[in-house]
Amino acid sequence: MSHNNLLPYNTMRMSAETKGIIPIYSEQDVFEVLVKQLSPLKIIGGGSNILITKDQDAYILKNEIKGIEIIDEDNDKVLIKVGAGENWHQLVMWSISHNLGGFENLALIPGCVGAAPMQNIGAYGIEQESVFHSLSAINLNEGITRTFYKSDCKFGYRESIFKNEYKEKFIITHVNYILSKNHKLNTTYGAINNKLEELKITEPTISDVACAVIAIRQSKLPDPKVIPNTGSFFKNPVVSISILESLKIEYPEIVSYPIDDNSVKIPAAWLIQHAGFKGQRVGDAGTHKNHALVLVNYGNASGDDMLSFAKTIQNGVATKFGINLEPEVNIW
Ligand code: FAD
Ligand code: NAP
Repeated sequence: MSHNNLLPYNTMRMSAETKGIIPIYSEQDVFEVLVKQLSPLKIIGGGSNILITKDQDAYILKNEIKGIEIIDEDNDKVLIKVGAGENWHQLVMWSISHNLGGFENLALIPGCVGAAPMQNIGAYGIEQESVFHSLSAINLNEGITRTFYKSDCKFGYRESIFKNEYKEKFIITHVNYILSKNHKLNTTYGAINNKLEELKITEPTISDVACAVIAIRQSKLPDPKVIPNTGSFFKNPVVSISILESLKIEYPEIVSYPIDDNSVKIPAAWLIQHAGFKGQRVGDAGTHKNHALVLVNYGNASGDDMLSFAKTIQNGVATKFGINLEPEVNIW
């Protein structure tokens, strides 16, 4: 394995050669890469949301831009500027230690800050867009820095402009968030409330919520360092109420959560489990025994093995429920 191999840089533990892996510590480092006209370019943070299926005929920019600074504040709020190469969970812990609210439900999500707007990371009833202010990114074709405000980013459910029309066109270098000094907790997500009750916490702080989230996640999700995975492999599908009603005739126990008056979200994990794939494996590619939505590499699965198993799941779910599962993970 050469030093240009991506094996140490992705949580599914896929081996893939590249044209070179270039650490980026500053905006200046990006401009220097552009002056050298190295191409094509791809960007990696923590590698926790990519499935690599082949060698990459590209130079990989490994984001290492650090720094967390408070750039403005008033009595209620603080505006922070964060380097895109900061670790997300460490940023959440920084906010808790400074008693700044807004990130607590998003504790223990792997990866770097620069990738958070990319798929508008979310968990336990909160998405990063709820605290997002703006970001700086460099256009890799033109070498020009641009500021994106919330309305420019087209945030959606695990979506943004950077996952679609601007994919691989910009490198995000800094993200600005607005955190609160007067906290409004969101504990409506059932599992958080249950955990706080179990811990007998009646007036939770942001630290209590983060601790509850960490405890729930550690009890349910496989640690990628132990069992390689990329978290949820598919998005939770959103379907119309009429589709849900027709499914309920055959599957009255089906789980759903309202999105709006016309549509609901069905947990992909429920569909995969009830299509018979929970804990299944083909060779070294499988779903985790505790969480059907998490595809895991049990040893030496290749990217193609993982993709082929994912397709088997998609076909199984489509045949049984008539619902198409869409990957959340970025396929390289
Ligand atoms: P990478 O995998 O390195 O990159 C992901 C994509 O973003 C790639 O296409 C890459 O090119 C692009 N990208 C990365 N950095 C930049 C940048 N600076 N500029 C432009 N493009 C960039 N996600 C959730 O939303 N919620 C969860 O609760 C959650 N839980 C997870 C649990 C586990 C155990 C695992 C393994 C993953 C989980 N994820 C979750 C998925 C993942 O952690 C997030 O999507 C995270 O934001 C990915 O960050 P990363 O730095 O690892 O991104
Ligand atoms: P869970 O609590 O078992 O619930 C299954 C799914 O049902 C979730 O994905 C969630 O959708 C939805 N759900 C549950 N309770 C809900 C509520 N009160 N209101 C609205 N939707 C609800 O899920 P889990 O797999 O253990 O994950 C817990 C949280 O962490 C979820 O928010 C999940 O998205 C996030 N997570 C994400 C990843 C990833 O890689 N993307 C990995 C692990 C966990 P939502 O996903 O839309 O919230």
